[in-house]
Amino acid sequence: MKKILLIATGGTIASRKTLSGLAPGLSAEELLAQVPDVRKFCQVEVVQPLNLDSTNISPGDWLLLGGVIERNYDSFDAFVICHGTDTLAYTAAALSYLVQNTSKPLVLTGAQRPIDAEDTDARQNLMDSFRYACSGDSGVCIVFGGRVIAGTRARKTRTKSYNAFTSINFPELAELRDQRVLRFIPFRESGRPVFTRELCQRVALIKLIPGLPEGAFSAIGDRCDGLIIESYGVGGIPDVYLSELDRILQAGKTVVLATQVPQEGSDLSVYQVGHRLRERAGLLEPYDMTLESTVTKLMWVLGKTREPGEVRRLFYTPVNFDLLF
Ligand code: ASP
Repeated sequence: MKKILLIATGGTIASRKTLSGLAPGLSAEELLAQVPDVRKFCQVEVVQPLNLDSTNISPGDWLLLGGVIERNYDSFDAFVICHGTDTLAYTAAALSYLVQNTSKPLVLTGAQRPIDAEDTDARQNLMDSFRYACSGDSGVCIVFGGRVIAGTRARKTRTKSYNAFTSINFPELAELRDQRVLRFIPFRESGRPVFTRELCQRVALIKLIPGLPEGAFSAIGDRCDGLIIESYGVGGIPDVYLSELDRILQAGKTVVLATQVPQEGSDLSVYQVGHRLRERAGLLEPYDMTLESTVTKLMWVLGKTREPGEVRRLFYTPVNFDLLF
């Protein structure tokens, strides 16, 4: 029987009703007690390093989770992480960079309803996650609503429905149906994992809107080492912000010009408003990477180096299916 470590971190899946709304309250043992049938096909131990609404998750928590996995890596065959859905896609992307080349699956899941609610999706998601964790695949992924999505490709696209996550610019890896794993993209890593213990936490995102006050780029850019700008369409910067952008780049910061459009990604070469940015040192574009991956990859890259050539090389090195370009 495979040996699985269940890592509980809070979220709706582990929440109870309080007078002021849902809040994490169930322990890892209580979660596991709701899916007694898993014991028929795997052996489970539990840890609970966090107990948060995932709104409160920060990069420090991703490092903590990476540490829990690193310390337990040799003692378990797979890891199932229960997490709130709001920032689940960020945590899955972050773990994809922090724990690379893992031959053992790291499966993240959560739920739209608490596990002890009558109409909950949590029991199914948790059962599916254990089943997928035992299926022999590798890598970091999300199992949710019967779908398996690469850890770098997920986005929460529905706030209430049970199919809350969508795989962006990449097919789903598998589906779970009638207690079986239907695999579309097999993923088998071999060898030892590569763990990273550092992230640059001075990364920020600014979203363009028509009429964004001048000075907004500088106000945020001055306080961070990596700035992601969510621009429009395939990517471009309005004329009025060009000098601010240049000042940020000249200060040696990395700027990523991303897009607000979730599907199909950026291509700065198309329009003059984007093309004029391509030759600027320190400016990158994410192409088909998700925003969640762009944010966490930039934190990972800038945690390793500030040398512009090396930043570019690492940012454009594909990890866990994050980049097809
Ligand atoms: N606010 C909750 C969280 O992210 C939502 C959820 O888990 O579905 O922790």
